[in-house]
Formats: sequence, structure tokens, C-alpha cells
Amino acid sequence: MMRLRALGALLLLPLAMAAQTPDWNAARDETLQHLQRMIRINTSNPPGNELPVAQYLDSVLKAAGIETHLFEPTPGRAAFVARLRGTGAQRPVILMGHMDVVGVEKAHWSVDPFAAEIRDGYLYGRGAIDDKGMLAANLETMLLLKRNIIDKGGKLSRDVIFVANSDEEAGGEWGMGWLVANHRDLIDAEFALNEGGRTRVVGKLTYVAVQNTEKVPYGVLVTAHGPGGHAAIPLSGNAITRLGRALAAIGAHDEPVVIKPTTRVFFGDLGAVWPEKAVGKAMVDVASGDAKRVAAGAKVLATIPVFNAVIRNGISATLVSGGIRSNVIPTEATATLNVRNLPGESIHDVVARLKKAVNDPLVDIAVADSGVDTPASSFESPMFTAIADAVKELDPAMVTVPYLSTGATDSARLRALGMQAYGILPFPMAQDDEDRMHGNDERIPLKSLEFGTKLIYGAMVRVTR
Ligand SMILES: [Zn+2]
Repeated sequence: MMRLRALGALLLLPLAMAAQTPDWNAARDETLQHLQRMIRINTSNPPGNELPVAQYLDSVLKAAGIETHLFEPTPGRAAFVARLRGTGAQRPVILMGHMDVVGVEKAHWSVDPFAAEIRDGYLYGRGAIDDKGMLAANLETMLLLKRNIIDKGGKLSRDVIFVANSDEEAGGEWGMGWLVANHRDLIDAEFALNEGGRTRVVGKLTYVAVQNTEKVPYGVLVTAHGPGGHAAIPLSGNAITRLGRALAAIGAHDEPVVIKPTTRVFFGDLGAVWPEKAVGKAMVDVASGDAKRVAAGAKVLATIPVFNAVIRNGISATLVSGGIRSNVIPTEATATLNVRNLPGESIHDVVARLKKAVNDPLVDIAVADSGVDTPASSFESPMFTAIADAVKELDPAMVTVPYLSTGATDSARLRALGMQAYGILPFPMAQDDEDRMHGNDERIPLKSLEFGTKLIYGAMVRVTR
């Protein structure tokens, strides 16, 4: 009996291994086709019109025998959820993406943004990297998990929930916001994998930045007051010139350097391998925890806008308004500041510092609206480890780091519900390709699409073991 059982286990071994190795040539082609189909459905938001994409996802997943839920929260918009059932040994994991895209300036594109054309190893199209590329990789992952594990008699230790949202690019009222408010039960999970990270190629280095926390956006109004009257009689204390002085002071103000735990690991790990020596040293210094070295390193990193934005709160003046006619001195002039706080930092402290910098009792500074400030997701969780291990298997030279994103994402809504949410962009790209996100000639390298699909699949296989 013992012997037979051992023999049986031996015979089963090749099958179990086969169950985890998809036919990647076929999977690569299939992912590309799904992505092309989705790019060809124009979901520019506004108006969005994501329903046809959701119907497409629904038909593909249904045909594969996967449970689906398609909702139309308002005409033409859609919320879509699909589910692979696990044993329930662990709580579910969400794979999410958004179906809407930002609009295009067609005249500045060298290809039709909705034709999904392939040229020189790239697939072009609006949404190729934001976010239909990830949606296609997520879709393929669901199909592969079903075919290669479940259909072969294997088991997942937790449910895998596929979520495709509308309206992410316009605030998410008809997307994740709607889903959370109306179908919370369908998206109850321990972990979520969303957009929001980077897989950045810098010279010979490729690093995978997994977003586990994000900056918090605030709207702050700066209002200057002054005497009004006929423009023919100039008045000192004119509200517009007063606002100008206040804005100049705000522009010269730097928020203090604060190194969050995520940023410390981010710079510490990257600094050791960063191709540019001086920048690498500054990163290591910032991560050192030694006040003098942190200050010296921060000084260097502050000259690089993307790094400056993760070591302190950011303040950008974005709107100015004041006056009603060219010959009337207004009594009020207002500027809007877009403030991006590091998580956990008080907006009231920022306002207090700005008031001090402006130093003018006739200038009011007030918070107009606030984003969601949530605790960071752990960068030592099984989900984070699964991503890092999947990366290592695909390319041992790549470095996976936790990442505090400067932009706000839907993940904040999930973190607010107590989920551990992570943002990735699993497609290796140089800065130039990534900058096309929301810009012209958006494109994805075909090799990166394949890599990203393997990465998501590899991470999901690990986290559902
Ligand atoms: Zn996006």
C-alpha cells in the first residue's frame, strides 16, 4: 500500500508540475489579442462607455466557465466582477484594473489611437499601459489559473476576484466608489493588486516598484483681501498684487523632509544598485536614519522632481482667479494649491507653515477638500512577497522595492476598508515609454506585455498556494 501510494505520488508529480507551467507562447498571443480588442473599444472618459468592454470580459470569462457579475450602475457604464473559487483556507485576493481611458489629442498621434496597431515590437493605443494592458494581463491570469490549476484538479487556497472598473480617470464615482457602496460583499478580500506601481528600466537596472502607500491630495485655497475701487485710482494693498506676493512666498517655501518607512526601504535598496553613483549615494544616505546624512542626501534628491516629491509634502499652485472687469480693483483674489501630503502628515500643519511663510493677515489659507489618508499596506505580507518572488524567478537581476506613489489611486478606497492593496505596473519600461501614459502615442513593448502577464500569474499562483 505504502509503495503504491509513493508510486502514485511519483506519477502525479509531472502532472502537478505541468499544472503550473502554462503554454506561454499561446498565452502571449492570447493576451495580445484581448488587449487589442479592448483598445479598439473607445472608452475615453468622459463619457466612458465602458459597458462594451465589460461585456467582452464577461463573454471571455463565462466561456471559460468562470463565475461573473456584470452591473450597469448608470447607462453605458459598467462594474464587472468575476470569481475563481478557492478552498476558503485563506481570505480572497482581488486583481483589479480600470476600463476607462483618458481622451486623446488625435492630431498629435502618429497612429490611430484606437486601432491597436503593432509597430516595431510595440502595441500602440490609448490604454495600452493605462490600464487596459494590466486588464488584459489580469484576464489572462484568470484564464490560466482556471485552465492550468482548477481544471487540472488543483486547488486555490483563496478566491481570486477579478474586478474591472469604470470611471477611474474621473474620480471613480461610477467605478470603485459605486462597487464599494453597492456590492461590498463581492469585493471582500485580504489583498488587492491594482495599478499604481512601476517597472522601470534605468540603464542596466530594472526595478519593480510596488506601491503600498500613496500621497494624500488636498485642495487648499489662498485668498488675498484688499480695498476695491476704480482702477483709475491705484490703491496700495490691491488684492491681486497681495496674492502675487503670497504665491511668491509659497513658491519659495519647502516642506520639511520626512522619510517614511516605505521610502527608507525604497531608497536603501535602490541606492545600492543605482547606476548613477552620486544619486545612489544620496539614496543610501537618505535611508541611513542618520540626521546629517539624511539632510545631505535629501539635498541631492531634491534636485530630481520625482524623488523630491516622495521625501516631503508637495505644493503646486494650479488655479488663479480674481477680478470681474479690467477697470475694477477687486476686493478678493484666490489661488488654488494642490497639496500632496505624505501619508499621516497633518494638512493643518502644512497650512500653519504656509501662513508663517506668507506672513500677511490679509491672506487667508484654508483647506477646501481632502483625500483619503490610510495606513500603508505591509511590505512584508504574503502578497508583497509573492510579487517579489515572482519577479526573482523571471529575472534574478531585478530589484523589487516598496513604493510610496505621488499620485492617488483607487487603492486608497480599499486600504480604507482594511484591505492590503498594492499597486504595480508590471511592464518593464524606460521613462520615455512610461511618460506616454495620458500622453501621445501611448504604447506597450510586446515583450513587456508578456513579462507583465507572467509576473501577475506568478504572483497569483504563489499567493493562492
Ligand atoms: Zn490608470
